[in-house]
Amino acid sequence: MNDKIAVTRSSMPDFEEYCREIKDLWDSRWLTNNGVKHRQFEQQLKDYLHTPNVTLFANGHLALEHIIEAFEFPEGGEVITTPFTFASTTHAIVRSRLNPVFCDIKSADYTMDESLIEELITDNTCAIIPVHVYGNLCNIEAIQNISEKYSLKIIYDAAHSFGVQYKGISTANFGDATMFSFHATKVFHTIEGGAICCKDEELAHRLCEIKNFGIHNPESTLYIGGNAKMNEFQAAMGICNLRHLSDEINKRKAVTKRYISRLSGVEGISLCDAQPDVQSNYAYFPVVFDPDKFGADRDDVFAALAENNIGARKYFYPLTSSFECYRDRFNPNETPVALRISQSVLTLPLYADLSFDDVDRICDIILNCNK
Ligand SMILES: *Cc1c(COP(=O)(O)O)cnc(C)c1O
Repeated sequence: MNDKIAVTRSSMPDFEEYCREIKDLWDSRWLTNNGVKHRQFEQQLKDYLHTPNVTLFANGHLALEHIIEAFEFPEGGEVITTPFTFASTTHAIVRSRLNPVFCDIKSADYTMDESLIEELITDNTCAIIPVHVYGNLCNIEAIQNISEKYSLKIIYDAAHSFGVQYKGISTANFGDATMFSFHATKVFHTIEGGAICCKDEELAHRLCEIKNFGIHNPESTLYIGGNAKMNEFQAAMGICNLRHLSDEINKRKAVTKRYISRLSGVEGISLCDAQPDVQSNYAYFPVVFDPDKFGADRDDVFAALAENNIGARKYFYPLTSSFECYRDRFNPNETPVALRISQSVLTLPLYADLSFDDVDRICDIILNCNK
């Protein structure tokens, strides 16, 4: 029996490298609350992303909840977003007492279909939360135009797009705010972690206070804040992983090219095309199966891979609008493209040191389903 292949595998620095990085903080006993590593890592991210404000968080989801809170939208406001995403995006909106309004996606890159946004705007719309899903970028320019025309805030869920650039500019720099996740399964991680990037200095200051109980100074608390701070051990992991990021992305690129060479042009299999002007981070490798043309459906392929100890992921299935916790609240049929893609997509194993032999084995199994 061949070894198990997981859908993802966290990138790790050398053990010694991490130990060196935490030595000072170990001795200093300053473990959290804006310590040396936190400040150093924040500065490194500003430099890497070429962005003026970076606020670190314990995880990406709390980052998203806190930036939504920081905008102080009226309760019950509507947020136009996508159901083709991880639970976090929709939950963050609902937990903030706002109402998600689902926009369909495009079948070319699975991002929000910008041509459908305007018809969803009402007097109650306060924001748009699009997702750069799989690291594919939304139509940033069209969404910016809509935001200006209707005075709506744009918060990008960029959990998948750390390291991605559009026309040489990092994805941290679009919209009113951008959320990154640094979860262990992402291209770049701090074990758990996340960040918000935004241009507005005042907003960034407020966010810093809101993530620390709203405390302004020892005798003044301005906001009913939460606790979402990143600790020093997370920041140290980020500092180490940032050193190896370009190597990580290059290795993922090689694996991705191998997949493409094996699977492109196969009848009934759709892959994402490279987007113009976008430098990718090769975060995921989604494959969409058309059972009528391919001869097997997504679930058949998933089962065949599972039988061989290979973990693919039905990512994203089901749509967030179909979750049990939202029963009777949304109608998934209103986003037919997202519904179809969620029923026919698989993301294949992808990580830096996945061998070409393993990619070939995975592809052989997939192509063998087609009988
Ligand atoms: C991972 C992820 C998040 C949440 O990030 P965490 O750091 O795990 O809290 C949000 N949105 C999307 C699309 C994600 O993939």
